[in-house]
Amino acid sequence: MNHSAAQTAMVLSGGGAYGAFAVGLMKVLFAGRSPATNYQPLNPGIFTGTSVGSFNAAIMASSPGESTLDTALHLESIWLDHVAERPGQCGNGIFRLRGDPTELLNPGCLQFPANLAANFASDTLVFSTYLLTRSANFFASSQPLSDRAIQALNIGSFVDLAPFHDLLNQVIHEDTIFRSSRRLAIVATNWITGQPELFDNSSFQGDTGIKAIMASTAIPGVFPPVTIGKDTYVDGGVVENTPLKPAIDLGASELHVIILDPKHASVRLNAEPSTADTLLRFYCEMLATIVSEDIETARWINAGIRAVEHYRQTRQTSSDEVRNFLKVAGQFLENTGVQYKPLTIHIYYPETALGGALGMLDFRLDPIIKMMGEGERIALLHDCRKSGCVL
Ligand SMILES: [Zn+2]
Repeated sequence: MNHSAAQTAMVLSGGGAYGAFAVGLMKVLFAGRSPATNYQPLNPGIFTGTSVGSFNAAIMASSPGESTLDTALHLESIWLDHVAERPGQCGNGIFRLRGDPTELLNPGCLQFPANLAANFASDTLVFSTYLLTRSANFFASSQPLSDRAIQALNIGSFVDLAPFHDLLNQVIHEDTIFRSSRRLAIVATNWITGQPELFDNSSFQGDTGIKAIMASTAIPGVFPPVTIGKDTYVDGGVVENTPLKPAIDLGASELHVIILDPKHASVRLNAEPSTADTLLRFYCEMLATIVSEDIETARWINAGIRAVEHYRQTRQTSSDEVRNFLKVAGQFLENTGVQYKPLTIHIYYPETALGGALGMLDFRLDPIIKMMGEGERIALLHDCRKSGCVL
């Protein structure tokens, strides 16, 4: 079935640096080089994302006047020139670790002594505040010592997201997304209510869109939460995680879902995984699991719609029980007025765990290029049956 751009969505899930995989994959789909689209260029009019997916989706939605392939090539250049840590450059375009002594040995950082001094001043201020408040809480608390010790550590305080904020200001033009004909929906989690919240094209004014991308990518415990208005937000993957439903709500009936974690392949952990690596790996698997649950829901709804349609046309079923059930289901569908439409969902995921030695926070250039190449390969060899696509 051919779907128009307005009915076609690209659904981009989370996974930090693994987002490079989605860039390579989209390039092949948009160039019409994948069997998934019968070698026709894919032209989605809807982009949804959580976490790093929200960054990729926002860039894709920001140039409605050019082909999706040209925008994907622009996105690729942003990853290679700004996101990735290139040799001789001071860190990556996403985050820096506060108080990282290797900055003082890195020739790329030493080129900019003023930046080093500013970082040192800001790190010292953050560390002092952190230690003061944490120490006060530690001694004032009546909780058991072990609980207090756990609360005293918050990795988020050691991560500085200023590079990502600078990058977003450089590459995201809120006004063009606000006016774009390409629909955008990004998901962040409200830290207080625990509910997913959507930010769409209309959110992209007055810096709210940029903050929403920061919020959507704020992996709890690793990146600091983000305040928008009166509310505090973290990574959209925490609760809803999959931007599948927002894509359907925006009118999509053909969805191309990119998952950044291998579905069946055994997950390769480092020989001696650090706590942070294990935590992030677990987080990435959790995101993939929730996406898979949504896809399974779509699969049985499709099967149900087909069974009701078949019964309406033929009045034939294998048993009285099933006949009665289909009558009730048919009535239900008519009376509730809810439009259930059959969905086509193509699913793409890497065959083996992505990433370099530092996992989903590894933004070095070589692993990024490798992951883009893996995304291209997966799109070129797409097999709907093997991938479990919903057709
Ligand atoms: Zn497929």
